[in-house]
Amino acid sequence: MIIVLKPAISGEEKQKILDKISALGLKTIVSQGVERSIIGVIGEEDVLRVQPFEAYPGVEQVIPILSPYKLVSQEFKKEPSVIVVRGVPIGGKDVAVMAGPCAIENYELLRDIAREIKRCGAQILRGGAFKPRTSPYSFQGLGEEGLKMLQQVGEEFNLVTVTEVMDPRNVGLVCRYADILQIGARNMQNFDLLREVGKAKKPVLLKRGLSATIKEFLMSAEYILSEGNLDVILCERGIRTFETFTRNTLDINAVPAVKQLSHLPIVVDPSHATGKWGLVIPAAKAAVAAGCDGLIIEVHTHPEEATSDGDQTLNIATFERLMREVRPVAAAVGRAM
Ligand code: PEP
Ligand code: MN
Repeated sequence: MIIVLKPAISGEEKQKILDKISALGLKTIVSQGVERSIIGVIGEEDVLRVQPFEAYPGVEQVIPILSPYKLVSQEFKKEPSVIVVRGVPIGGKDVAVMAGPCAIENYELLRDIAREIKRCGAQILRGGAFKPRTSPYSFQGLGEEGLKMLQQVGEEFNLVTVTEVMDPRNVGLVCRYADILQIGARNMQNFDLLREVGKAKKPVLLKRGLSATIKEFLMSAEYILSEGNLDVILCERGIRTFETFTRNTLDINAVPAVKQLSHLPIVVDPSHATGKWGLVIPAAKAAVAAGCDGLIIEVHTHPEEATSDGDQTLNIATFERLMREVRPVAAAVGRAM
């Protein structure tokens, strides 16, 4: 249920309503719009229905939210959310570009990659320090050492940073070093982890699970928002289908579908969606044409030597071409890149 407050409501009256709701044992999330604020109320709707909230003079309207995802839905918030991370907007007119290696391998290499992606126009540096590998014998990432490198290199090149957190116990640690917390596809329904990043004060990049429906994807985002963290960026990264030529199948439908259902920004990861570097540029073009708010691309100075995901990783020249070729597509749909 959402309670829309009148623009002129006093702070005291607003607090009275918040106190009343919490006395009923329900949780509130306040979203401050340009003109009016709205209170999202989470919990048993039956408890709420009997309360005449419309009787408060400062309340404009009480609206039940019918969709299963509440805070994520457009019923809760109509205008698209723009998440600004250290001055970089995600969800506005600009198409944000995140790029970097699958895994952070060493300081010099990360620095070389960061310098090049910055030159090509990316604003956000990606790189995994905790890697969710299919095999326990594969390289698992550099852990905290990798996080330190990411922070240092991000600062040097003035790039926002994004990196995966896999374990709820490491959320605090990753928050100390990175600007955006990534939840990987394999952890999309790790509800303890979602709750933990929901309590964090950093934006979250939530990747769609390998076989998650759009509804399940949005319900996972709801976990994060319900803990008070409204800064969630969704990421379509391909889903499992019967097709084996590509690593996953890019569900391009997810982009406009999410735009219709939610106010949250959605970015696309054509690297994991295709698994083949030669398909990344056309998939990125399709994603931008479909209206995504950003791209996350695996880039390496020497993909053939990368410790993970080399097959889907662009070298610098190809990433430069991606930027050159995707920009006119963005312009064609009224976006800037
Ligand atoms: C990644 O971004 O490197 C990654 C592991 O992605 P996903 O969780 O989408 O597989
Ligand atoms: Mn990867």
